Amino acid sequence: MSDTPQMIPIAKPVLDEREVEAVRRVILSGWVTQGPEVAAFERGFAEYVGAPHACAVSNCTTALHLALLAAGVGPGDEVITVSHSFIATANAVAYCGATPVFIDIEPDGYNMDPALIEPAITEKTKAILCVHQIGMPCDLARIVAIGRRRGLPVIEDAACAIGSEILWNGRWEKIGKPHGDIACFSFHPRKVITTGDGGMITTANPDFDRKFRLWRQHGMSVADTVRHGSREVIFESYPEIGYNYRLTDVQAAIGREQLKRLPAIVPARRALARRYHELLKNGSGFRAPAEPAWARSNWQSYCVGLPEPVDQRQVMQVLLEAGISARRGVMCSHREETWANHLAPWKLRNSEHAQDRCILLPLHNSLTPEQQSDIVGALESVAAESATKALA
Ligand SMILES: *Cc1c(COP(=O)(O)O)cnc(C)c1O
Repeated sequence: MSDTPQMIPIAKPVLDEREVEAVRRVILSGWVTQGPEVAAFERGFAEYVGAPHACAVSNCTTALHLALLAAGVGPGDEVITVSHSFIATANAVAYCGATPVFIDIEPDGYNMDPALIEPAITEKTKAILCVHQIGMPCDLARIVAIGRRRGLPVIEDAACAIGSEILWNGRWEKIGKPHGDIACFSFHPRKVITTGDGGMITTANPDFDRKFRLWRQHGMSVADTVRHGSREVIFESYPEIGYNYRLTDVQAAIGREQLKRLPAIVPARRALARRYHELLKNGSGFRAPAEPAWARSNWQSYCVGLPEPVDQRQVMQVLLEAGISARRGVMCSHREETWANHLAPWKLRNSEHAQDRCILLPLHNSLTPEQQSDIVGALESVAAESATKALA
């Protein structure tokens, strides 16, 4: 976060006086945690993605925890998921006392390979947790078909995927409708819209939605807003163990402003991605990410494959020295100590390759065409130098 002003950051949230005004309004209202702003944010979000229910929570990690609990995941169970994801995907499974069973990603993308799901199913399997990695929809039609056939709920880790779309029965629909059983979103500043921290759970199942609302507020039988608004004395009860996973009204007010910006943010990101695609046709060998015909990414991140002679650390160092922030490919959870020896040995070649042989380029709404040209120019110079070195 110590980027100098000249630095091109990897990501940059779109925030201005509108969010400041919204926060000011909430603070002066005197009601600052989960209340009317959260309820309005939920309605706006549900409408945007086309979901029957949307429940706001403190972040996407807690959203995933509640989603897995609603799916009935508990101690000793297994959840089929990917290692190639932010660590929170695997950690949420652990919160339930269950074990993540990692399957590999597709060779030509960064999402779960549906062909590997059925061989991984055991009598302990309780759910499939797929990820729309860096905003690119995974092959949900195939994943959901397998889930339905095998009686397994499908939970979508849609942390990065607000505004992404998928062709579903011949129509473009938003990720989060949901197409699986439950979808979970993040509003961390690294995502496409932000509330500082925050999360949302969408579902078509009213029973799940009721559970999310109970669990996010300590398992308390009456919401604060209901008790506050009642003309009769109400004593609450705590029928189940719950959590404090609330979003605040301050955050939700920011979220409502961010939602209004989405119809401008997403097309702008798509235009930036198209420009990268064009610039990368320069013959330097960097591979632009592929978008399946049935998917429309929000381009939360733009991930390029490195040509053979180019070293990942070296190219990132050159970019850094040129004032350009890049990141390595998405992490693999099975390489971290927590999950390394869990069900060894993992065979996740495509996942490891994507972490080691890719980099994420800056993509945010204030990125200019000139900056994009400079970034790709820097890549070209590294490719040329690496090729010369390889020959020597
Ligand atoms: C960011 C992210 C998360 C965690 O989201 P938080 O809101 O920070 O808890 C989970 N899964 C994936 C794939 C992510 O990218």
